[in-house]
Amino acid sequence: MIDILIIGSGGAGLTTALEASQNGAKVLVVGKSYPTNSQTSMAQGGINSALGNMDDDSVASHIEDTLKSAKGLADEVMIRKMCEDAPDSIKWLESIGVGFSRDKNGNIAQRKLGGATHKRACYSQDYTGLKILHTLYDNALKENIEFLNEHYLLNFITDNSKSKPKVIGATLFDITKGEAIEIKASCVVVATGGYSSIYHGFTTNSFESLGDGISATIRAGGDVSDMEFVQFHPTALKGSSILISESARGEGGYLLNSDGDRFVDELKPRDEVSRAIMDEIEKGKDIFLDLRHLGEEKLMELLPQEIHLCKLHEKINPIEQIIPIKPVAHYTMGGIDVNHSLEVNGLDGLFAVGECSNSKVHGANRLGGNSLLEIISFGRLAGKNAYNYAKNSNTKDIESSQLSLDKEFIEQIYNYKNQINFYEKKEFVGKLLYNNAGIKRNEKDLLIALDEIKKIESEIELMGIGDKSKEYNKNLMEFVEFINSLELCKILLQSALDRKESVGAHYRCKE
Ligand SMILES: Cc1cc2nc3c(=O)[nH]c(=O)nc-3n(C[C@H](O)[C@H](O)[C@H](O)COP(=O)(O)OP(=O)(O)OC[C@H]3O[C@@H](n4cnc5c(N)ncnc54)[C@H](O)[C@@H]3O)c2cc1C
Repeated sequence: MIDILIIGSGGAGLTTALEASQNGAKVLVVGKSYPTNSQTSMAQGGINSALGNMDDDSVASHIEDTLKSAKGLADEVMIRKMCEDAPDSIKWLESIGVGFSRDKNGNIAQRKLGGATHKRACYSQDYTGLKILHTLYDNALKENIEFLNEHYLLNFITDNSKSKPKVIGATLFDITKGEAIEIKASCVVVATGGYSSIYHGFTTNSFESLGDGISATIRAGGDVSDMEFVQFHPTALKGSSILISESARGEGGYLLNSDGDRFVDELKPRDEVSRAIMDEIEKGKDIFLDLRHLGEEKLMELLPQEIHLCKLHEKINPIEQIIPIKPVAHYTMGGIDVNHSLEVNGLDGLFAVGECSNSKVHGANRLGGNSLLEIISFGRLAGKNAYNYAKNSNTKDIESSQLSLDKEFIEQIYNYKNQINFYEKKEFVGKLLYNNAGIKRNEKDLLIALDEIKKIESEIELMGIGDKSKEYNKNLMEFVEFINSLELCKILLQSALDRKESVGAHYRCKE
C-alpha cells in the first residue's frame, strides 16, 4: 500500500513528496499533465525571505507586512510559522540546487515587491518558479519518487463515516487509456493549485488552474473558506493576459495612463494598484507599463523573460516602447480550509497544501513572493505531517462504490446530447466573472452572475462532448473540468454576496 498519495505535481506537491520520501514514506505523485507544466513554472518575481542581504530587513518586518496586507483575515500563528521558516526554506532550496541571482558580494540578491517595506524577494532573474520547479523535479527523480502523469483526479474515496469521513484514496481518470481507476493510500495530500482560470480569458494562469482538487474536496465533505478572495494582478499584457511580473515595477518601472501621467504609487499592494488602474479605465484611459528609462542592460540582466514575453505576445519592445496592460485574475487566496497541521477541516486523512489550500497566510490580499514561500515552507510541513499520519494510520482496505459511480458518470457524459458548445459557455463564464465578480463588485451584478451560472448548469446535459474517442480525449477532460468549475463559480459568487464589506481584494460598491 502507498503511504502518501499526492495529487498535483506543482511546487507544493513536489516539495511534499521530497520531504515525505526523505522521511522514509512510500510516495506516489499524480498529475493531470506533467510536473514541468505546472503553474509554478510561470512564477517570475521571486520568493520572500527576510535575509537582510540588501537592507536591514527582519523576520519581524516580514510578519508585519504580511499581516498588514492580509487585512485582519489571516491566522497570525501560520504567518509567523511561514515567515520564521523562510530563511531555512531558501537554504533548503539552495542545498538541493536552486541557483539564485547574486549581488556584487556574492550574496543572494533581493528585490522589493509591492506592499513590502524591504527588498525581500530572492530571485533567479525572472525565471524563479521555473528554476525552483525543475530543481524539485530533478531531486524527485533522483529520489526515485514514483509519478503517475496524465491522470486526472475525479474524487476522493472515503470510508463514508458520517461524523468525519476518512479519506482512504482517490479515483483517477487515466487520460492515456480513457479509463477510471482507484488508488488507495494511508493518507492523501491535495496540491492541485488555485482556481483563477475560471476567469477564462482574463487570467495570468494556465488552463490547468481550475480548482479541481477543491471541488473534489467539497464533494467528499471537506470545508472551504474565503472563496470570494481573488487577487487581480495589475500588470498583465492587454491582449493576451500574460503576466508582466511585479519585479518590473520592483526594479523601477512606472505605470502611466494615456495622458502620460503616473497615477498611483506602483509598489502599493496589488488590490490598491489594480483598483487605481480600474478607476483610470473607467475614465476612458488606457494604461501602460513604462520600463524604457531602466535601459537595455538592466532589463536584459534582470527581466529577460518579461522582455521576451512582450515581444512574443504583444509585438512590443519594452526597451523602446510602453507596454499596454490590464489587471486580470492571478491568485486565489481562498480554498480548502486547513488547520495548523494542514489537515483538511471536515475530513480525516486528507492534507491540503499550496494554492488550493487556505492556510490563512494571505488573508484578503496576498503579498507578491509569499506564495512560492508558502509552497516550499508548508510543502515541507505537509510532507512531515502526512508521513507521521501515515505511519500511525490503521487504514483498512474498505470497500467503496466511488469507482463505479465515477465510471457511470463518465459513461453518461458520452451519452449527453452535445447540442450546446461548452467552450463558448466557458468563454462566457470567464467574461461574466471578470465583469460581475471582478475588481469591483456590487450586489446586482453578483446576483445576475449567479443566475447565469445556474442556468448554464441546468443545460449541462445538452452540452457534452463531440469527440467520443477513449484514449487522450481532451474534449472529455475539459468538459469534466468545466462541470467542476461551475460549482466553484457558484461558491465564489455566493461568498462574495455574503461578504457585504470591502476588504482587500474583495471590493464592494453600490450599483
Ligand atoms: C504568471 C504567474 C507568476 C507568478 N509569480 C509568482 C512569484 O514571483 N512569486 C510568488 O510567490 N508567487 C508567484 N505566483 C504564484 C505561484 O506561482 C503559485 O501560487 C504557486 O506556484 C502554486 O503552486 P502549487 O503547487 O500550489 O500549484 P501548481 O503549480 O498550480 O500545481 C498544481 C498541480 O496540480 C495538478 N492538477 C490540477 N488539477 C488536477 C487534477 N484534477 N488531477 C491531477 N492533477 C491535477 C496540475 O497539473 C499541477 O501539477 C505566480 C503565478 C503566476 C500565474
